[in-house]
Parts: sequence; structure tokens; C-alpha cells
Amino acid sequence: MPTIVILGGAYVGVRVAHSLLKTTAKTVKDLKIILVSKNSHFYWNMASVRLVIPGQLKEEQYAVPIAKGFEQYPAESFQLIVGSAEGLDTDAKTVSVKVGDAEQSISYDHLVLATGSRYVDSNVPWKANGTYEELAATIKNVQERIAEAKEIVVAGAGATGIELAGEIAFEYGKEKKVTLLSGDSQIFGGDSVASSAANELKKLGVVIKTSARVANTTTLADSGKTEIALENGEKLTADLFLSAMGVVPNSEYIPAKLLNAKKFVEVDETYRVTGAADVWAAGDVVAKPKATFVNGDLQATGLAKNIDLVLKGKTPAAISLMPFDVAAASVGRNRGVGRMGVVKLFSFMVYQMKGKTLGIQKMPGYHNGSSF
Ligand SMILES: Cc1cc2nc3c(=O)[nH]c(=O)nc-3n(C[C@H](O)[C@H](O)[C@H](O)COP(=O)(O)OP(=O)(O)OC[C@H]3O[C@@H](n4cnc5c(N)ncnc54)[C@H](O)[C@@H]3O)c2cc1C
Repeated sequence: MPTIVILGGAYVGVRVAHSLLKTTAKTVKDLKIILVSKNSHFYWNMASVRLVIPGQLKEEQYAVPIAKGFEQYPAESFQLIVGSAEGLDTDAKTVSVKVGDAEQSISYDHLVLATGSRYVDSNVPWKANGTYEELAATIKNVQERIAEAKEIVVAGAGATGIELAGEIAFEYGKEKKVTLLSGDSQIFGGDSVASSAANELKKLGVVIKTSARVANTTTLADSGKTEIALENGEKLTADLFLSAMGVVPNSEYIPAKLLNAKKFVEVDETYRVTGAADVWAAGDVVAKPKATFVNGDLQATGLAKNIDLVLKGKTPAAISLMPFDVAAASVGRNRGVGRMGVVKLFSFMVYQMKGKTLGIQKMPGYHNGSSF
């Protein structure tokens, strides 16, 4: 009875689980998939910048119980464990998982690491960092604070910060002052479409401060406002400070010998983990060549095929990714900026591809596997 344990119940983990259950389980006798996820829900985090605007999206449009998406499979072939992976022993081929206060050891034949990454500030819902209850409370808190605040500072001018500032400014216009802080001299990491993104944000009234790296923030006792100290000595105050800075891999439970200097998992071109037989990894916990949904999706598809090959005694294949780099950001609810390789995209193209819905119409097909 081969057991495949998948850690992480987001895009990559859920896709690998469905792919194995839909294809490999038909030919490999008694295959069992165990999906371990901190979050009991499948969360469409790519819509997080819009769902924090009160009234924009209903909960069922961005989060659905993972278990429901797997009801179609025989009970003996799939198990969901809502818990946190805390340790990995690649010699014993076991993972220790914390469920509530209890720790249990799970044995695997193959293991898939899909625990992604998180933002360092745990008070923002750009990623699911903990339980669903914690995520739902964070979303509610940010929605309420956005509704109340008159002056909002968004720190971190990568795609998430740009999209967030754009969503708030689009919704509230002159009602609220929105400032976007960029640590670098240009937003969007100096991408070739950075100046287009800055122009779109300015049209919505967003104030952009570049070379404005945050040193620390303090809550002021008298007013409850946040004071933001910049590394250049300047100080700002805001009713609400939202961080979109700093992404770290969820790899604390993984032995250091399997990680690179930045604590991401090292894989070969088949997405097999370097130095651990029968361990595979994909998505943001690998972040190679870049941490995007698009890359993770292609990796998850290839990785499931590779496990299928290995279970049938065959050699895994190198996984092909997009032949060019894509960068895109929605700016408000009806415009966007982006490029495919070096080719710049028109605003309406980014709107159609991304900004119109932020992909939420795809969620049901990912959740129940009907898209794969
Ligand atoms: C606002 C925003 C918009 C984005 N838009 C786009 C876009 O338009 N296009 C695009 O290509 N990319 C986009 N991305 C990037 C995309 O979200 C990520 O690449 C994607 O989420 C990676 O998926 P993943 O499955 O690897 O992991 P993650 O989404 O990081 O999820 C990891 C999962 O593992 C769980 N987990 C973590 N640690 C443990 C543990 N120890 N035990 C058990 N479970 C654990 C987490 O709770 C989580 O559910 C966007 C990102 C953000 C923040």
C-alpha cells in the first residue's frame, strides 16, 4: 500500500493530491494520499488584496473547506489531517504532525513538500499562515480597520503592495489617503513596467514614496495611530499600517541539509528534493525560478506525473516551465500593468487576465479537481 503524504493544502498540495487520485490511484493498487494542512480551507489568496475591502467578496468566493473537494474519492484512498508539520526524518521516512496539542508520526513512501511561504507580519491575510479560524479573524480585523481608517500606509511595493494600494484607492477615492512605501528607488522591484504601475497608482490618487524603507513601527498610546520610522530618519503616522513586506519560506520543519542559504528547498529539474530519496517539493517553498502560482501549478502537474512514473518503476522527467518570465499587477478594479517576457501588456489585457476577478472563478475547479 504506497502512501503519499503531501504537506500544505494550498494550490500545489491540492493539485498534486487530485492528480494522483484521478490518475495514479487507478493503476497503482491501494494508493493512499494523506494531505496535511494547517488551514482546513482552500484559500484563494490571490484575491486577498480585494477581499479585505469590506463588501467586495463573499467568504465562499475565496475560501472553501478542503475536505469537501475530496468527498468524491473512496474514503480509504484519501485522508485530510488538519495540523501542522513540525518535523521530518528522511531516514525513517516519517513526518511529525501536530494536531491540536497532540503530536503524531506519519510514515510515507513518497513525500511532497508544498508548505509555501508566508509574509513576516502575521496580521495580514496575503497568505494563509495558520488555522482557518486565525485567517478569518485576520481578514475581519483588516476589513474593519480599512473601513475606519482615513490615512493608510502600505509598506512594500512589490505586486502585493501595488495591488493592495490600488484596491483601497479605487474603492475610497479621496475619502482616504493611501501612501505606498517602496524600499527601493522604484516600485515593482524596478521591473520594466514599474513606471506604468506608478502612473496607474497616481491616477487613483495613491501617494508613492520611494527609497522609503521601514525601520520600525510603534503604536502611539494617545491616538492609537501607528508611527512609521523610515531608515532615512523620516517619520510618518497613519491610522492603519499594512505590511506587504518580507516573504519567508514555511520550511522550519525541514532538515537544514535539504535547504539552501535562504531556507528554500533545493530540488533538481524533476522537482525531487536534493539529498532525500522519495521527497519532492514545488511551489513557493521552492521558489524556483520565481514564487508564482503559474510556476507552482506547472511544477505540481509535472511532479504528480513524476511520482506516477517512479511508482511504476520508470525514470522521472525534467519539468518544463514557462519559456519566458511574466510579471503582472492589477491596479484598482478596472486596470492593470504587466508584461510577458519583454512584451508589454495593455492595461485591458491585464484586467481581463487578472484584475477583473483575481481568478476566483477558477477556485471551484481547483478545489474539487475538475479543472485537472
Ligand atoms: C496578493 C497576492 C496575489 C498573487 N497573485 C498572483 C498571480 O496573479 N499570479 C501568480 O502566478 N501568482 C500570484 N501570487 C503568488 C501565489 O499566491 C503563490 O505563488 C502561491 O500561493 C504558491 O502556492 P503554494 O501552494 O506553493 O503555497 P502557499 O500558497 O504559500 O500555501 C502553503 C500552504 O501550506 C500551509 N502550511 C504552511 N506550513 C505548514 C506546515 N508546517 N504544516 C502544514 N501546512 C502548512 C499553509 O497554511 C498554506 O495553506 C500572488 C500572491 C499574493 C500574496
